[in-house]
Amino acid sequence: MQGTVLYGPRDVRFEERPDPTIIEPTDALISLPLSCVCGSDLWPYRGIEPIDGPTPMGHEYVGIVEEVGSEVGLIEPGQFVVGSFFASDNTCEICRAGYQSSCIHRRPGAPTGAQAQYARIPLADGTLVATPGMPPEEMIPSLLAASDVLGTGWFGAVAAEAVPGKTVAVVGDGAVGLLAVLAAKQLGAQRIIAMSRHESRQRLAREFGATEIVTERGEEGAERIKEMTGGLGAHSVVEAVGTQESMMQAIRCTRAGGHVGFVGVLHNVEIPGEEFFFSHVHLHGGPAPVRRFLPELIDLIWNRKIDPGKVFDLTLPLEEVAEGYRAMDERRAIKTLLRP
Ligand SMILES: [Zn+2]
Repeated sequence: MQGTVLYGPRDVRFEERPDPTIIEPTDALISLPLSCVCGSDLWPYRGIEPIDGPTPMGHEYVGIVEEVGSEVGLIEPGQFVVGSFFASDNTCEICRAGYQSSCIHRRPGAPTGAQAQYARIPLADGTLVATPGMPPEEMIPSLLAASDVLGTGWFGAVAAEAVPGKTVAVVGDGAVGLLAVLAAKQLGAQRIIAMSRHESRQRLAREFGATEIVTERGEEGAERIKEMTGGLGAHSVVEAVGTQESMMQAIRCTRAGGHVGFVGVLHNVEIPGEEFFFSHVHLHGGPAPVRRFLPELIDLIWNRKIDPGKVFDLTLPLEEVAEGYRAMDERRAIKTLLRP
C-alpha cells in the first residue's frame, strides 16, 4: 500500500509501505475511505516532539473492516467502524470507569499509520465501534472527526463540566477548540465564549454554538472574560492548545470553584504552584477517552443532529499529504481531509 511517513522536521513523504497484516489474534484490518491530518501531528512535524526515526503518521480513522483475527468476536468484516488514537480492551477497570485512553492494555490505535490506504487496529473488539450501517458518502468526514477532534473537544467540555446554566470559555480555535464549542452547546451550556482572532474560525465557532467571541489572548483575554462574567470568570474553560500561555490563560479565565478541561497536548508547561493553590480551580484533562463517547457521538452524527465534519476546510488527494501538513502549519487550513 501507500502511506505517509515523517522522516524529520517538515519532511513528510508519501511512499510505498508494507501492507498491514493481522499480527495478533485481536487485530482487525480496515481500509480507509478518507483520512486526515491532526493538529497534534504538527508537534512532531515542527520538531517540537522528537521522533525516533521514520514514523508512519495518522491516528484518526474510520474504515471498512477487511479482515479480523481469530479472537475478534464483536467486530466483523464488512462493518463500517470508528476507532480512536489509543487502542483499548474496553473491559479493564480503568476502561469501565470511562478512561479507555489509560487502559491497562493501551497501545497506539493505528500503529501502521492512518494517513494511508489500510490500517491495522489492535484490540479491535474494545477499540472499534460499528455504525448502524454503511454511512452515506457525505457523512464520513463527520464520523472521521468523531475519531479524534470531536471526541477530544467533547471530553474537554465534559471535563470542564459544561452543563446547562454554565458559562463556558474555549481557549484555542483549532478543530478541537471549535468542536469543544459544539460539545458545550450539545451539553446545554448557557453562554459559550470562543477565544479566536481569525474571522473564518470565529464564523464556524458561531455556527457551532458560540454566543460571544473574545479576540484578546493571554492576560488581556483573561481580563476580558472576567469583565464579561461580573468579575468572576467562566464556570468552565476548555484548553485546546497546550502551550504555557494558553494553559495559564485557561486557568486565569476560570472563576474560583470552576473547572478547566485541558485537552491540548501540553508541551513544556509549568504551572506556578502558588497561583494555582490560591485559584481554587479544578484541572482535569489529558488524552481524551474518545472510546467512552463514540457510541453517543456516532448516534448524534447518524441522526444528523451535529455536523462536526465542517471543521475540514481543505480536501487534498492522499498523495499530496505533505501540502496538507504545510497548510495547517501555516494556519491556511483548520483541518485537512485526505482522499485516497
Ligand atoms: Zn482497558
